[in-house]
Amino acid sequence: MEHILAAINHGATGEEIANLPIPESYRAAFVRREDVGMFEGVESADKDPERAIHIEHVATPELAPDEVYLAVMASSINFNTVWTSIFEPLPTFGFLDRLGRESEWAARHALPYHVIGSDASGVVLRVGSAVRNWKPGDRVTVHCNYVDDQDPSAHDDSMLAANQKIWGFETNFGGLADLSVVKANQLMPKPTHLSWEEAAVNALCNSTSYRMLVSDHGARMKQGDSVLVWGATGGIGAYAIQYVLNGGGTPIGVVSSPERAALLNEMGCEAVIDRAAEGYRFWSDEHTQDETEWRRFGKKIRELIGEDPDIVFEHPGRSTMGASIFAAKRGGTVVTCAATSGYMVEFDNRHFWMKLKRLLSSHFANYAEAWAANKLIDQGKIHPVISATYPLTQVGAAARAVHRNEAEGKLGVLCLAPDEGLGIDDPDKRERVGEANITRFRR
Ligand code: NAP
Repeated sequence: MEHILAAINHGATGEEIANLPIPESYRAAFVRREDVGMFEGVESADKDPERAIHIEHVATPELAPDEVYLAVMASSINFNTVWTSIFEPLPTFGFLDRLGRESEWAARHALPYHVIGSDASGVVLRVGSAVRNWKPGDRVTVHCNYVDDQDPSAHDDSMLAANQKIWGFETNFGGLADLSVVKANQLMPKPTHLSWEEAAVNALCNSTSYRMLVSDHGARMKQGDSVLVWGATGGIGAYAIQYVLNGGGTPIGVVSSPERAALLNEMGCEAVIDRAAEGYRFWSDEHTQDETEWRRFGKKIRELIGEDPDIVFEHPGRSTMGASIFAAKRGGTVVTCAATSGYMVEFDNRHFWMKLKRLLSSHFANYAEAWAANKLIDQGKIHPVISATYPLTQVGAAARAVHRNEAEGKLGVLCLAPDEGLGIDDPDKRERVGEANITRFRR
């Protein structure tokens, strides 16, 4: 890939880039089918992603007509990187096999290895014969909604498509690599004021939070709404806080350390709950929830903002869902996209129906939502929340940090980009947006 990197660094034209040979193999982070049982008997928290993730060369797949080859300059760690590498809740090879049965082109995905990663920024190298809107040399970011555009169910809200998938999680050839294969309808323009790694960390988490809070498919947050955000300095939480502030709402951020509380204050979030300091025990044992703890939590929220939250941004799942349903205001909405602490959730239905609350499910974002969320990044209204950058060779260590809840915001990964800070196309715009806003999460 050296010739490709050299051409990009020297500002090669699109035509020059189109003529570069595509290598027969490329460096990638992947898990192996033969390792699926490697953590048998190990507690979830003790499973180390680094043991399962390999960084080696893999064969370059053929390009389908609706796809592009992308030189991946940077990527990011998502929680799905953790799920894939600890083979929970399911090994991802079942997804690849199912996809492989869909068509001749899809069959490429069912391999003994799974190249992971659901974010990327980079440069388009080649476009398939059916690609119209993109050309070699385009600098892009990639969203991870992978849909079959010949499926009628994909043409209202594509997240409702019968065989909708997440690229790099439920498909192969993901972004944690020097090269990737993506569908043309996953591409978005790279925000011009950001470096490669700053541009790479947003799409998955930013679009997810956009749909959950802002979109018509989500909680439809209004100006003045109060929004309780769990994990408020985490990947999706840190974008959620920005959407609430940007949309004229009042965020209440929940975190687990004074450092994270201070970071929230710096972002402009004044109402903060340190759940570790408060010592909430919503579950008194494995089977029993403690309503007095829900009440203590609700009281704390009222003390901070004077009311119950209109919206609860929920994703920890089992450990918090009971409290979230309880704390939402009468007629309020709990919107959920995940279950980090366990997917068998439990809540007291009386607090739910008697107070006419709504529970709304959400999952990633359709192309229009991802595009709108990317535009807000490009306009400098929403900022990347990158706290550290790792080289591709250390994807395992980076995934371990996310698994252990040791990282704030997002962890970037340098793929072809040799260093941090490269790829900024518009330094004047960067100055206008403000270095402090762009690098607030840097530690
Ligand atoms: P993350 O960066 O690890 O942040 C999660 C935050 O949640 C942590 O910072 C932690 O904050 C908080 N948390 C963790 N366990 C908790 C618990 N038991 N109780 C309360 N808070 C807890 O992860 P992320 O990227 O934000 O993703 C969060 C979840 O959403 C993951 O399960 C991920 O797979 C899922 N997700 C789903 C979608 C989708 O499209 N459906 C998209 C993105 C992410 P504190 O310790 O500071 O409180």
